[in-house]
Amino acid sequence: MFHLAELASYNICSRCAGRIFAYHGHGLTNVERGRYLQFAIGCELGNPDFSFCDEDKCKLCHGIFKKFDDIYSLVMKKVGDAQFSTFLVGSVFPEDTMMMEEEMQRKFGSSGESIKKEFNREFGKFFSMKTGTEYRQDDPDLSILVNAEYLFVEIKLRSIYVYGKYRKFRRDMPQTRWIHRPDGDTVESIIGSVMIRHSGGTNYYLHGSGREDVDVRMLGNGREFVLELENPARREFDLDQVAREVNEYHRGIEIFDLSFSDKDTVSRIKLENHKKVYDALIVSDGLIDEERIRKACAELNGKNIYQRTPLRVAQRRSDLIRTRRIDSIDLVGVSGNEAEIIISADAGTYIKELVSGDDGRTKPSLSEMYGAPLNVKELDVIKICRGED
Ligand SMILES: [Zn+2]
Repeated sequence: MFHLAELASYNICSRCAGRIFAYHGHGLTNVERGRYLQFAIGCELGNPDFSFCDEDKCKLCHGIFKKFDDIYSLVMKKVGDAQFSTFLVGSVFPEDTMMMEEEMQRKFGSSGESIKKEFNREFGKFFSMKTGTEYRQDDPDLSILVNAEYLFVEIKLRSIYVYGKYRKFRRDMPQTRWIHRPDGDTVESIIGSVMIRHSGGTNYYLHGSGREDVDVRMLGNGREFVLELENPARREFDLDQVAREVNEYHRGIEIFDLSFSDKDTVSRIKLENHKKVYDALIVSDGLIDEERIRKACAELNGKNIYQRTPLRVAQRRSDLIRTRRIDSIDLVGVSGNEAEIIISADAGTYIKELVSGDDGRTKPSLSEMYGAPLNVKELDVIKICRGED
């Protein structure tokens, strides 16, 4: 058992004393609890003048609860004119404070709350009152982290997510930025650079529902994407205007069906596995025999093919044999040593290898069926079968 009077030997303020007994005296603040303790201890010691020390001399809190105005200014300096309507407060206190607190709580009955908890709650109330915004635990617009030891703050604004679909009309453009070619055009940088101008923010990422090769055009009903904007200053802006600017940029990208979205949509579109329709221009060393190529196409209709990971992507993908269904291959026409075909196939089919055979790594292949080497010269995705149209 302990004596309350033992508390008198610590250099702490009434708030910190009250916090040690936070689970006693329902409806009291820690400061009020501290005042009762002060009175009781004074009686116990027979010293009517006994008092806890001032907050700024307190060995535990070092007066941090009196610095809310300063902390508020530090936060708002970082927030600038960024929009937010919900926020969360976290805090870091020095290790010796945490240890001293733990030790005292153990000694006095383990019925207290931590200084972090009180600080986060009380500064949260203060911040809410000052800004007219709401404290929210889950997914707040603004996360505030206060370092109580060195009195600095870090903030993070929740990313915003914009859903849309893109068409790509170029054969020289990757979907996302390359580390070794950061300045070249990409689908990501063309869309992202416009959106970051409208939203403010520190960075952007394009999450695509799959991706086409650099040299493949993405036509037809377009590919779904979500663009993530980090630390946005504005959480809402005119998406029609964004689409207009991207589309009038004439950099070979068109976007449409834009809407504000969320993180869950990123996972949803990344998991989607739609069949696709391709338009391929294929080429042979010699003249292409129309009847033979038509027959070769027909042989693959409705067939499963087996594709070992192509050498060209072997560094990025594990070496597996995948089964893919070819729904149909239709010959559009033949001209000299070129032919145009329309292919409808499972998501993830390697079309270039379906045509070439990839040195036997894809079986059967169009080259094999035709009986002479064929290669894809140009490839377009013309439809992603999302079942919406
Ligand atoms: Zn204190």
